Amino acid sequence: MRTDVLVIGGGAAGMGAAIAAAKEGVKVTLLEREEKTGGILNQCIHNGFGLHYFKEELTGPEYAERLKKILGEYDIDVVTDSVVKVIKNKKVVTVSCDGVKEIETSSIVFATGAREKPFGALMIPGDRPSGIFTAGVVQKFINIENRLPGKRALILGSGDIGLIMARRLTLEGVEVVGVVERMPYPGGLARNIRQCLEDFDIPLYLSSTVVEVRGKERLEKVVVAKVDEAFNPIPGTEKTFKVDTLVLSAGLLPMVSLVSDFATLNGTSGGLATSNIGQSSVEWLFGAGNSTVVYDLVDYVTIEGERAGKFAALYAKGEKLSEKIPIEPGENVRVLHPRWYSKDDGLTIYTRVSKPIEKAKLVIGNYERTLTNLMPSEMVVLKVPARYLEGFNKLEVSIKEV
Ligand SMILES: Cc1cc2nc3c(=O)[nH]c(=O)nc-3n(C[C@H](O)[C@H](O)[C@H](O)COP(=O)(O)OP(=O)(O)OC[C@H]3O[C@@H](n4cnc5c(N)ncnc54)[C@H](O)[C@@H]3O)c2cc1C
Repeated sequence: MRTDVLVIGGGAAGMGAAIAAAKEGVKVTLLEREEKTGGILNQCIHNGFGLHYFKEELTGPEYAERLKKILGEYDIDVVTDSVVKVIKNKKVVTVSCDGVKEIETSSIVFATGAREKPFGALMIPGDRPSGIFTAGVVQKFINIENRLPGKRALILGSGDIGLIMARRLTLEGVEVVGVVERMPYPGGLARNIRQCLEDFDIPLYLSSTVVEVRGKERLEKVVVAKVDEAFNPIPGTEKTFKVDTLVLSAGLLPMVSLVSDFATLNGTSGGLATSNIGQSSVEWLFGAGNSTVVYDLVDYVTIEGERAGKFAALYAKGEKLSEKIPIEPGENVRVLHPRWYSKDDGLTIYTRVSKPIEKAKLVIGNYERTLTNLMPSEMVVLKVPARYLEGFNKLEVSIKEV
C-alpha cells in the first residue's frame, strides 16, 4: 500500500491531523488499533470537553463524534482494528485480522496518545491481591462495560483521571474513602478538586502515600503514611483503610516505543520532541497530542493535531520547511513543549512549572508575560507573537518568581 500522509492513532490528535492533511489535497490514511476512532474520549462520559474548539461544553464521546463527522466529510482512508508494530524509513508494518501489511508513505503523523503508570512502577510493598486497578481501567469498566470494580475504594494520586473516577465511583454507589497524594498540593485541575472531591466530601490526604497493600486473594487493607520532603514515609503516621479496591492515578506517560530508537524525545515530557509545526528530529516524522506531551485539554490536542497534519501534508507535497530553532527549558520549567520553533507558523508554548508559584514572569526571546497562581498541575498555554522571536538562533523559556 502507498499513501502520502499516514496518521498513526485515531484519537483527537490523529483525527485533527488527518482532517488538516486532507484539506491540503493529499492522500491520507489513518490507522487505529481499536475498533473505532475517538481514543480516550470514548470512555470519558463526563462533560468538560470542547469549550475552546467547539465553543460548547461536550462529553468526551460527543466531542469524538463531532470530529468523526468532520473526518467523514473528507476522502480519508480510516483503517480500524489495525495496530502499527514497526516504523522504519517512511514504511510502517501493521497487524490486523487480515494479516500483516506494509504501508509506504511520504510523511507520518505519530499520534498514539499516552498510557497510565502501572502498579509495578510504583514499587509498593505488601501482597499482590486482586482489586488494584489504574484509573483508566476503572473508567473503562464503569463507563464502557457497565461493571463496578468493588465496594469501598481508596485512590492513590490526585491526577485528573483519579479525581474524575472518585466522583464517578461515588455516583455509582462505591464508597470512596479518600484520595492520597504524595505532593503537598493536588495533581489535578482546581476545577476537578472542587467538582469531584469537595462537592462529594471525599477527603484529600496531601503529603501522603501508600506504604503497604494487604490481602490474600482480594485487597483487604491499604496502609497510608505521611511523607517528608524527600517523600520518605514518616514512621508513626500510618493509617489503615479497609478497602477492597485501590485505584491508581499516578500519571500518564506518552507512548513513544515505536519511535524512541530513532527520534529525539522531549526530556521534559517523555514524549516525542516536536517543533511548533509538529515536526520531529526526523524530517518526515510529525507528532501530535499526548504522545508528545500530556495535555490538560483535548481542544489543544486537536489544534496541535491539525497543525501537525497540515505540515506533514506540505512536507509530503515537497514543500521546503524552515530551519528549526531549539527551545530549551529554563528556571522553574518542568515540562516544555514544543522543543523547536519554525518560522512557518506561530508559536504556542505549553509548559508546566516545577513548583507552585504565586507571581512569576515568563520570558522567551524578547517576550515577557506576568502570570499569577501557577500550579504544576495546570498547564500554562501562551501564544508568543513572532516579532518577539526574531534574531534568535536559540530560545529559552524561563519562569522567574517576582
Ligand atoms: C480520564 C480523562 C479525563 C479527561 N478529561 C478531560 C476534560 O474534562 N476536558 C478536556 O478537554 N480533556 C480531558 N482529558 C484529556 C483529553 O481527553 C486527552 O488529552 C485527548 O483526548 C488525548 O488525545 P490523543 O489523540 O493525544 O490520545 P488518545 O485519545 O489516547 O488517542 C490515541 C489513539 O492512538 C491509538 N494507538 C495507540 N497506539 C497505536 C498503534 N500502535 N497503532 C494504531 N493505533 C494506536 C489508540 O488506540 C488511541 O485511539 C481527559 C483525559 C482523560 C484520560
